[in-house]
Amino acid sequence: MTVESPVQGARAQKLGLQSAEDVEREWEEAHAGWTAHGVSQAWWFCPFCDCDFWSPSGARKHMKWKKHRVLRGDWYSELEGMGPK
Ligand SMILES: [Zn+2]
Repeated sequence: MTVESPVQGARAQKLGLQSAEDVEREWEEAHAGWTAHGVSQAWWFCPFCDCDFWSPSGARKHMKWKKHRVLRGDWYSELEGMGPK
């Protein structure tokens, strides 16, 4: 099995995201509500570096600079081990 872009984050692995393609698919599905209007507890995480972001602008900058897709963390935070760091 060849993995071209390994996904490093423990939380990404809990979600079953093992490749950049998996992340892309998840991001496409989540895209519609991504910016979290009116959601004060929203946070984001990078599946590749496992770092957290507390504003959409911070998450967007990371996507732009690192070319990583960033996912909404609070959608998954009820799952064990998925909370923010
Ligand atoms: Zn990243």
